[in-house]
Amino acid sequence: MYKIKPMKILAIDIGGTSIKLCLADESGNISNFKEYDSEAKMGARHLIARIIQLITMNYTDFQAIGISTAGQVNKEEGSIIYANENIPNFTGMQVKDVFEAKFNVPVVVENDVNAAALGEKHYGAGKRYQDFLCLTYGTGIGGAIVYNSNIYRGFNGCAAEFGHIILHPGGKRCTCGHLGCYEMYGSTTALVKKALEIDKKYVNGREVFEGLEQGNVELEKIMSKWITEVAYGLVSLTHIFNPQAIILGGGVMEQNSLVTLVNSKVKEMIMESYSEVAIVKASLGNKAGLLGAVSLHL
Ligand SMILES: [Zn+2]
Repeated sequence: MYKIKPMKILAIDIGGTSIKLCLADESGNISNFKEYDSEAKMGARHLIARIIQLITMNYTDFQAIGISTAGQVNKEEGSIIYANENIPNFTGMQVKDVFEAKFNVPVVVENDVNAAALGEKHYGAGKRYQDFLCLTYGTGIGGAIVYNSNIYRGFNGCAAEFGHIILHPGGKRCTCGHLGCYEMYGSTTALVKKALEIDKKYVNGREVFEGLEQGNVELEKIMSKWITEVAYGLVSLTHIFNPQAIILGGGVMEQNSLVTLVNSKVKEMIMESYSEVAIVKASLGNKAGLLGAVSLHL
């Protein structure tokens, strides 16, 4: 009798600031996790060459590659439809072709927020749900729609740009060119900008939460307003999608108390018939994208 060797998948998570890599089996057991600066500002060709070098340096035995990446992705072609200036010249890159030619194994590419949602679906907070939304709070607000246990992509693969729902018409100018988008009010960046008006030491979400623990009353007011902005977006999305659950990710949402506060605010504002929506914390942290990349080969 012989044993079939379990499949090893090389998972890669490409972001504007870091590249993460690991090996994983189909059950999501991770090994050889590595994280590097992505040096993305040097452009997409440098980035891809760098990833190939990192793979060659660290990994030998894998039968497939799953890639989670920043930017809008054409999943069938494994190419980048659009990426912003965080990775110059990434738009149009044939990611799948490049890696398949180099490593001679099947390669699947997915957008990072969709990958994180798939990670949560297969290995994390989304296991119990077939229909849910995922939102990631950071520099902006990323979104993914899981419908019938699969990603809903829309007409040409760009669905779920929840960060660009216009929440305050005529409001703050967004990176997308419009005025008053959700992410200008509900992202971590938006929270930090407001906190910085009180004190220059509040340079990130962690500092803001430390300030709150020390009982800064002005900061509490800012926090409470920010939670209301976060909830506005979630209330509208719940009324549109009627999801079983909404999974909240991004560094700032690691705070248990925050998810509880957002949940109560949403429940306060929502129509009665939607009140069963579960608002929960993402459970895979910064491994969600990698595990989502693994799940592309299930
Ligand atoms: Zn926008």
